[in-house]
Amino acid sequence: MRSRLAPSPTGALHVGNARTFLLNWLHVRAAGGTLLLRIDDLDGPRVKPGGVEAGLRDLRWLGLDWDEGEGVLVQSERARDYDEVADRLLRAGLAFPCVCTRREIEEAASAPHGPGTGAYPGTCDGRFASPAEAAQRGGRPAALRFRPPPGAVEFRDLLRGPQSFDVARETGPFPIRGAGGTTAYQLATVVDDAASGVDLVIRGDDLLPSTARQILLQRALGLRTPQYLHLPLVLGEDGRRLAKRHGDTRLGTLRDEGVSAARLVGFLAWTAGLAARGEEIAARDLIPRYDAERLGSDPIVFRADALLRDPGAG
Ligand code: GLU
Repeated sequence: MRSRLAPSPTGALHVGNARTFLLNWLHVRAAGGTLLLRIDDLDGPRVKPGGVEAGLRDLRWLGLDWDEGEGVLVQSERARDYDEVADRLLRAGLAFPCVCTRREIEEAASAPHGPGTGAYPGTCDGRFASPAEAAQRGGRPAALRFRPPPGAVEFRDLLRGPQSFDVARETGPFPIRGAGGTTAYQLATVVDDAASGVDLVIRGDDLLPSTARQILLQRALGLRTPQYLHLPLVLGEDGRRLAKRHGDTRLGTLRDEGVSAARLVGFLAWTAGLAARGEEIAARDLIPRYDAERLGSDPIVFRADALLRDPGAG
């Protein structure tokens, strides 16, 4: 088993990310697999200065580690590999240059005969012979879009069972490289997972629809599809995805407030059926208890008082 932790240094880790990373780590460590580290820092403008170091500090504070000898993939350093693959898709006629703006796409999608679903309507498909021609005639730099084949993509998620997404209908041709030249997440993650021999991807279930897109890219490139396990997100008490409005659940803030790693890990383990309520425990002591069968697919609700000292009352 080869898996990876792929933090994005675009914001500090919060309780939701921590749960996903802890369970990913436990799943791999309990099976004696290899765990790689990848830094998802392609979203340049949103990467916070010092964000990478802060993320790694948070992971270590939780008691998580990775197999250092395997090297670390830093996405911002891999443009050459990504471009090579994107160009291959372009030459094969599976991708095309696109000069549509976000606004044009929205307008076309909501036009009387548009797809109506928010899917890219295919405006630039077949319009230009090359990105250079697209830029010249379109008057702005071109993005690249991959054209999904028609029909549903089916796969089995290890936690959620059979999945089916009709990418061609629901999403349409999707970006693999932005107009600014930055590789899109979908392509970068496919190239990296293949390059590092990852055969199990564990991540939040907000990425389930992305998985269908990634599988199509893998097929187009002749790459193996890893197994996928998508974990439920952590929600606030209002049922919405955990965010600033629910208070500050960043790990650094919890630490400053005196919450120990053992308390947070114990809480996260409790949400996965691996610890008693209020138990304090180190991540490594959970390895013998880990049982993937106990993972549920229902969202986890985080209550603001969940990490207080006397949880018995709640
Ligand atoms: N960097 C992404 C995140 O932090 C994970 C992407 C992936 O696992 O493919 O949510």
